Amino acid sequence: MPVNYSGAAGRRTQSSRTSVARERFARRADPESLKRTLRQMFGIRQLRAGQEQVIANVLKGVDTLAIMPTGAGKSLCYQLPALHFAGTTVVVSPLISLMKDQSDKLDEAGVDSAQMNSALGARGQADTVHRVAKGEPDIVFTTPERLTHPEFLDALRSQPIALFVIDEAHCISEWGHDFRPAYLDLAPALKALGDPPVLALTATAPDDVAADIVKQLDRPEMRVINTGIYRDNLHYFVELTEGDAAKLAALRRVIARNEGSGIVYAATIAGATRIHAALREDGVSCALYHGELGARERHQAQDAFMDGSVRVMVATNAFGLGIDKPDIRFVVHYQIPANLEAYYQESGRAGRDGESAECVLLYDRKDKRVQQFFLVRRYPVDAEIHTVYRKLIELNARERAIGFDEVRANVTPIGANKLKVVLKLLKDAGVVRRSGTRSYRLMQDDAPAAKLADLAKGYIARGQADYEKLERMIFYAQTGLCRWRVLLEYFGDDATMERCQTCDNCRRAAEHAAVESIAVAPGPGARRAMRPLGPGDAVGVPRYGTGRVKLAAGDEITVEFPDGEVRTFLRGYVRRRRPSALAAAVAATAAASAANGGSDGVRANVLPPEDLSLDGVPLPTTDPVPRAPTAPGDD
Ligand SMILES: [Zn+2]
Repeated sequence: MPVNYSGAAGRRTQSSRTSVARERFARRADPESLKRTLRQMFGIRQLRAGQEQVIANVLKGVDTLAIMPTGAGKSLCYQLPALHFAGTTVVVSPLISLMKDQSDKLDEAGVDSAQMNSALGARGQADTVHRVAKGEPDIVFTTPERLTHPEFLDALRSQPIALFVIDEAHCISEWGHDFRPAYLDLAPALKALGDPPVLALTATAPDDVAADIVKQLDRPEMRVINTGIYRDNLHYFVELTEGDAAKLAALRRVIARNEGSGIVYAATIAGATRIHAALREDGVSCALYHGELGARERHQAQDAFMDGSVRVMVATNAFGLGIDKPDIRFVVHYQIPANLEAYYQESGRAGRDGESAECVLLYDRKDKRVQQFFLVRRYPVDAEIHTVYRKLIELNARERAIGFDEVRANVTPIGANKLKVVLKLLKDAGVVRRSGTRSYRLMQDDAPAAKLADLAKGYIARGQADYEKLERMIFYAQTGLCRWRVLLEYFGDDATMERCQTCDNCRRAAEHAAVESIAVAPGPGARRAMRPLGPGDAVGVPRYGTGRVKLAAGDEITVEFPDGEVRTFLRGYVRRRRPSALAAAVAATAAASAANGGSDGVRANVLPPEDLSLDGVPLPTTDPVPRAPTAPGDD
């Protein structure tokens, strides 16, 4: 248990702080004192491998992006060094509830921290500014939005900033470009604060997200430490369902077979509300959480879930970031999320206590439309940039600074967040200048159309990347490969684990292999069956018929079928056939093709509907479905 020790607890006066700070600075590089702090303040004896590496970097003042799995103890990576620094540690946090939670925990441990966010009200904010200006708190939590407030920045600037932390740093890339553009203004804030060392923390950042974080923070030398994402207590399942009734039935089965608490994620507020009502009717103890509920209702729901008085939380993705409930036994996704980062992050809230937990995705092919719909209007397009630019000319922004609200009132169909992103694009291109905090002036009124169009181009590529990520999410849902293997590869984790043995696909393959070995063990055929499959061998695959092995690599067999289609399967699904079976299949396909006037060109990267049934037929490993963007409803 954390223990207070004298000198660190409660508020301090300026002079006592200075002496404590000096003392801390003096022992900064001493591992013994770090260990002592760890033991006495946090009740921990041994750092984990990843933590040690990150903390070592932080103490050396090296800019670091730490990618650590949920539950690996990310917070400690700044909290421990913060207590050994002379200056203040600033922590940018996306959610007020998250910073409150962390600040409360630090309070318990006797660490002086402060929060800065809109929920404090004017008085609370003034109090924080006052304390920060005096250098009282060791750790100051803030939302990115508050860092654009000059008064708060000035207060921070009056003290040396020892470390600048961005918690949940993937938000820079995931949210900065649309609904929280303040995340894109962290680089100027860093400059204003005298360029302190940076620690960016996240559970998930594939290469492109990591690169974007480094770029947006303007810290090209930033070191990336990736401590791995594999957690062997999480068991991943996908249930293919068709229609809402089947899906609800699948959800009920998950809830029935698990004890303890769980989260059910829905893609929309309407969906969450409906599921919540259905479960209530079943008599399941559950709460509802989404962004349109009032703050009080949200807190009530969260508290009830956290203290165990309700068992199941039905929520949109508004719920969960920073939720530190260790004993969540299952996380069900009622629809696919936008990408595997979101999926891993949300499903990873299960089993933080290290005990086994289920992560279930209920997948209906139609669900992807919802995500496609979200993607279509996510980023500003050429026309919107033009609209804002022309409006600034009309408003005579060359001659006078125009406040954000005035701009907004004149471009009404463009929402506030998108407008912020557009203004930032124009600012970065030198077309407008920010004057004061929230006012803008035009620097040129003859910007060529091509230049403005270029500004949107970056977002075309980004939109395309979002679609590709959605397709990888769909691939995950449809694959016959080990689910963990797919996650590890997506996140570029080079863990050597080949199969987790606990996901639905691994279990199914194991059952299938057991049945097959009983079938081939006795009799003269046994020996032939033991020879590994190789190119040219005739094989049969349930549902797909007979084909020829094109490639055998490890657990995966790539098969070419007589119709020219090539698919990859797990070894357990592929059975050796006699060459004569293949000849017969080729002949039958040729005959059918002639009768139909040739191939109809339907290429089945998309599964035929019967494969969505839950009759236990092994699923094929499909290639990723085609990558081109698709409009909503286009399925
Ligand atoms: Zn597996």
